[in-house]
Amino acid sequence: MNTTTNLDFEFEAHTNPVSDADRAVLLANPGFGKVFTDHMVVIKYSVEKGWHDAKVQPRGPIQVDPAMAVLHYAQEIFEGLKAYRTPDGAVTLFRADENARRFRESAERMAMAPLPEELFLQSIRELVKIDEKWIPEIEGGSLYLRPFMFASEVFLGVKPASEYLYMVIASPAGAYFKGGAPSVTLWVSEHYTRAAPGGTGAAKCGGNYAASLVAQKEAIGHGCDQVVFLDAVENRYVEELGGMNVMFVMDDGSIITPPLGGTILPGITRASLLTLAREQGIEVREERYSIDQWKADAQSGKLREAFACGTAAVLTPIGQVRGNGYEFMIGNGGPGIVTEKLRAELGGIQRGTVPDTHGWVERLG
Ligand SMILES: *Cc1c(COP(=O)(O)O)cnc(C)c1O
Repeated sequence: MNTTTNLDFEFEAHTNPVSDADRAVLLANPGFGKVFTDHMVVIKYSVEKGWHDAKVQPRGPIQVDPAMAVLHYAQEIFEGLKAYRTPDGAVTLFRADENARRFRESAERMAMAPLPEELFLQSIRELVKIDEKWIPEIEGGSLYLRPFMFASEVFLGVKPASEYLYMVIASPAGAYFKGGAPSVTLWVSEHYTRAAPGGTGAAKCGGNYAASLVAQKEAIGHGCDQVVFLDAVENRYVEELGGMNVMFVMDDGSIITPPLGGTILPGITRASLLTLAREQGIEVREERYSIDQWKADAQSGKLREAFACGTAAVLTPIGQVRGNGYEFMIGNGGPGIVTEKLRAELGGIQRGTVPDTHGWVERLG
């Protein structure tokens, strides 16, 4: 098996890239996930050859055989990270090594070939280098990078596939929320859980999202923005949103967040915020927090703020929570002071306006 961790990338330039003028129009208001850059990364894996044929090539459709394993048994994982333009014009990545590690761990959980972390990082750097002019210059803009991998073997037998395709696409993104994040209203799902002990909750796989969508639909049906999941065993403890972790700010200034235990996605935003909060002298407790406690603390005022966190939206204040037969507000329903302060600090580090004292930011030369 090929154990090489660095490959030479072949480069095939797009023969008809988006013009400067058209790109400028797209980048003025890119939204999220609907505009894409000119190129993409493709790396193949087979048991015989290992990782091979690394390419940066024009972005476009790929051929899918109807018997491709991913279409039937959902061996698929992904990542999400951003490239930023700093005020001095540099292009940066934030903790991409953590994405590389998590991608490998997700692959292992899904019995897929783990992509060497150095190859993951190399692929990100190659694509950003070629498509860096797609980083929007608008406030809050970034280039969202989406590495993903799936079972590409053509075989209907149920087993870990022997062939995989790893790809990276890039999508310019505007500020997730313009003019500061508005608070979201959450729906507490009673019927659906996201992940059970021993399941795939800690892996970033498409299957987790597929399983969450019916609950998200239920949330929308109840006039809420997002669903929040409770634990699958007791249906009591708050776990996370469909795609974001959750934190609670108490009246003594401390922060509580559900502990990682296999059913929660280990967010890099989560980990970074815990580090920043601890450095500011904030007491941080990773402990279970029940929906009943949440309700009681919100009503007594012991809970001051709550927010969701993840790469796409960074920090999103939670204003209200609704469940079957109840509803409660957090604070005054708007963004809290601690939420705003943490958002400004993390966002500043990512965008190069606050010094990076942790070695989290990589400048691409
Ligand atoms: C990606 C993701 C998060 C957030 O992780 P970050 O590394 O902070 O972006 C949280 N929950 C789920 C389910 C996720 O897929």
